[in-house]
Amino acid sequence: MYIVSGCLAGLCCRYDGRDNADERVMGLVREGRAVPVCPEQLGGLPTPRPACEIVSNRVLTEKGVDVTDNFLRGAEECLKLAKMVGARKAILKARSPSCGSGMVYDGTFSSKLVEGDGLFAAILKREGIEVETE
Ligand code: SF4
Repeated sequence: MYIVSGCLAGLCCRYDGRDNADERVMGLVREGRAVPVCPEQLGGLPTPRPACEIVSNRVLTEKGVDVTDNFLRGAEECLKLAKMVGARKAILKARSPSCGSGMVYDGTFSSKLVEGDGLFAAILKREGIEVETE
């Protein structure tokens, strides 16, 4: 069983209210082999919502509002679901401050990338769940 980013499964849960539909991920969901989650929504953030980036281990909007607690809460809730369904692997949206794995935006809101994981990807890895991006 996979846990997958909701936006890759075609849900309009992105910060701008759109999706990142990915055929492979949608196919896994259709076959009953993947469960879609959106940690930012489960952390209580609205959709649409301001874009966020990781800045010195905190998650901030471009205006400097600290939403780290929402991101952490959402990541924990999604981890619960991942454990509930026995997920051993995850396919997550690249570069997101929640779902990104290996590379994330650098905190300057200028589309530059740095090495690092989003908060949800990091929690999954800590729990031994293999993470790949789309
Ligand atoms: Fe997609 Fe993850 Fe962002 Fe939700 S938090 S919109 S699932 S990348």
